[in-house]
Amino acid sequence: EDEKKRFIERGSHKGKGIAVFTSGGDSQGMNAAVRAVVRMGMYLGCKVFFIKEGYQGMVDGCENIVEATWASVSSIIHKGGTLIGSARCAEFREQAGRLKAARNLVEKGITNLVVIGGDGSLTGANLFKQEWPELLQILLKQGKISQEQADKCKYLYIAGLVGSIDNDFCGTDMTIGTDSALHRIIEAIDAIVSTAYSHQRTFIMEVMGRHCGYLAVVTALCGEADYVFIPESPPPEDWPDKLCHNAGQRLNIIIIAEGAIDRNGQPITSEKVKQVVVDRLKQDTRITVLGHVQRGGNASAFDRLLACRMGAEAVMALMEATPETEACVISLDGNQAVRLPLMECVKRTQAVAKAMADREFELAVKLRGSRGVYFIFNCFSQITPMKWSDVTGWVAQGGALLGTKRSLATNKLPQIAARLREFQIQAILIIGGFEAYQAGLQFYENRAEFPEFCIPLCVIPSTISNNVPGTEFSLGCDTAVNEITEICDRIRQSAQGTKRRVFVIETMGGYCGYLATIAGLAGGADAAYIFEEKFSIKDLQQDVYHMAAKMSEGVQRGLILRSVM
Ligand code: ATP
Repeated sequence: EDEKKRFIERGSHKGKGIAVFTSGGDSQGMNAAVRAVVRMGMYLGCKVFFIKEGYQGMVDGCENIVEATWASVSSIIHKGGTLIGSARCAEFREQAGRLKAARNLVEKGITNLVVIGGDGSLTGANLFKQEWPELLQILLKQGKISQEQADKCKYLYIAGLVGSIDNDFCGTDMTIGTDSALHRIIEAIDAIVSTAYSHQRTFIMEVMGRHCGYLAVVTALCGEADYVFIPESPPPEDWPDKLCHNAGQRLNIIIIAEGAIDRNGQPITSEKVKQVVVDRLKQDTRITVLGHVQRGGNASAFDRLLACRMGAEAVMALMEATPETEACVISLDGNQAVRLPLMECVKRTQAVAKAMADREFELAVKLRGSRGVYFIFNCFSQITPMKWSDVTGWVAQGGALLGTKRSLATNKLPQIAARLREFQIQAILIIGGFEAYQAGLQFYENRAEFPEFCIPLCVIPSTISNNVPGTEFSLGCDTAVNEITEICDRIRQSAQGTKRRVFVIETMGGYCGYLATIAGLAGGADAAYIFEEKFSIKDLQQDVYHMAAKMSEGVQRGLILRSVM
């Protein structure tokens, strides 16, 4: 029954008109979102349009509003920026501009809009929806649309997606583009960290975020920074003392959000911080401002998936809307795509900016909401005490520097208990996949025999296959998906020159199809064959037909993922 409910039938919303546009600043993942809207809309039988150049294209009409085809969004899932263009449009802020826009939409029978942009763009869309009946009346009176058209397009439905690298929108855990920006930043910080540790040098890195410190905070965590400055939570007045608390101290990495301020609302610039470090610690100090590099490049696997899921959900929200439904924004809430009232989220976002302007920083942090969890962990295999500095630089390194084993210690429990006693270990944190769960369970089940195991036991799920219970993501799976996705990109590129070729990529995963399915989505594959979904020769045949149809329409390559048992 549930399965039936989840299945959305092809062609179930025939004839409805949807348009998608991108507005405000661009971000990676916008193209993936546009693609998802087009394909989901077409799957449902809608007529889907692109509006080029954001609201400007909507106001100008003509060749700016074009019908999309399945192939028109082929091979764009990975691309940064927005291929349908974005703009800021002063005309749309005035009713005269919105009248023109309304007329252009009515002419094409478009009554559903997916807007991809920041809080400004979403606010504009909401206003447009509210004003829609009035705009139709005016156009009717002016004789610019017919009564029939007005009746057909009586209601305007809006669904918003937030595209922003800053992660500055309240209501969603992640905005489209943030994860890709973090990829760019982390590549840069890894490069800088290696040189910073080699010299007596302080590196100050400035990342984007005029009103939001998310990128800076995550960068600081991932780059093992010594200090981070963000707008929402300015440092105490005596920050120069706190920053350089003892002479001869070595500062390596300092991260600054571009909008960092002090408690008086004055900017804390990279130059200012540099001056403090140079004056007090006499250290050679260099500034790196990352700038637009952060917005550039391919979208990460996470952003592509986020955009795919949100684009599809936006279309479903529009199809299910009734005249009473408020404009909604599609948000990510703990890995679930949810629909939230658009204006409520916009208002909360604007309240953060106001709180910062009023220097009510605690309120700003509260309004921003909590995101992410921070761990400090400590582990052992052969037992050696660890010092703070022993793990310096580990954060960026793949693999397990402590070493790892697949086998359980079934017949070594007495020795392990003895070692725990010897080293007076009072808690164990196990990082690993299913074996780690089993190891934890084994300790637990043997507590009666070995009181040494009567200590807190905790497992951090960590496996690239993402096949362990109790968590949406295990450590490593996102990195693995990115690797596979990049390989899909490269294969796609190599296939550009050749014609009529299908590539099959085998992924790890065994009985868990996560890697194949998710990388298949992010890599824009045609199909993913996995253990959990039984398929027969009929399904393969169906996919071959699909591939042939696709090739006859001009797309000359196919990509299939297969999870290897
Ligand atoms: P970013 O976060 O990248 O700045 P944004 O969507 O907030 O993105 P804005 O420049 O604020 O960017 O808005 C983009 C466009 O949306 C504006 O140029 C304008 O056309 C439209 N818009 C914004 N606010 C309104 C509004 N209050 N009324 C009508 N239109 C608006």
